[in-house]
Amino acid sequence: MGNVALVTGGSRGIGLAIVRKLAERGYDVAINYRVSREAAEQAAAELREQGRRAAAFCADVADSAQVAEMFRAAAETFGPVEVLVNNAGVALPGAVFQDVDDGAWDRAFAVNVGGMRNTIRAALPHMLHEKRGSIVNVSSIWGLRGASCEVAYACTKAAVVGLTRSLALELAPSGIRVNAVAPGCIETDMVRSLGQETMDALAQETPMGRLGRPEEIAAAAAFLAGEDASFITGQILTADGGFIG
Ligand code: NAP
Repeated sequence: MGNVALVTGGSRGIGLAIVRKLAERGYDVAINYRVSREAAEQAAAELREQGRRAAAFCADVADSAQVAEMFRAAAETFGPVEVLVNNAGVALPGAVFQDVDDGAWDRAFAVNVGGMRNTIRAALPHMLHEKRGSIVNVSSIWGLRGASCEVAYACTKAAVVGLTRSLALELAPSGIRVNAVAPGCIETDMVRSLGQETMDALAQETPMGRLGRPEEIAAAAAFLAGEDASFITGQILTADGGFIG
């Protein structure tokens, strides 16, 4: 597999852990962020100090023009992207279905699903030309199981499953693999924003009795991204401490 990886939403949480894991595995890493510039730049600097090649690139994944420009800039810096990790995502916690307004619903789909469409379309010309490439999408157990009071979010993550399985079929003859990770409850800002009580309840509900760590999702994503998974495509790898059984 190629040596250049781009991770969307690589500034914090699961994305940052994936960035670090891929750098450790020898990839040059383009770190995408939307607003957390300082965190993304800091992550890149930290990796460069360790002798890796990394740089931060700003783009709202929901904006196809910004995404195209990010891919152009990343290719100029490192060469074309051969491993794409679609991790950027937003949640709409706590909103009952009828209270989710059109704007919030559309934004959830624009980022969580449209963002993946934008990045994949930007990555594909090179991958198709080279007849190789690996794409890893981040779904969620809520996309597999459903989630009360998170209908919009769960729908977007279910769409990621459809996107992954369908695109895997379409791109397999071209030598491009497409897989997804479906994390359970992972300790990041996204879950911390729910408050300690909810975090404790989620940990209790998890058969392993704790929340997952971003590094545990990064390990699953790096496995799917790399050569160890060379005959694996169209798979949804659940990493959830047993949550959905
Ligand atoms: P997080 O801590 O909230 O971080 C979200 C990341 O996505 C940030 O790096 C953020 O960058 C980026 N992002 C958000 N909107 C973006 C946009 N429009 N364009 C570019 N980047 C954007 O979330 P997390 O928990 O690490 O979640 C990462 C992924 O895992 C998401 O897809 C999430 O749905 C999924 N997931 C998380 C859990 C969990 O329990 N934490 C469980 C299942 C699935 P900026 O700060 O720069 O905006």
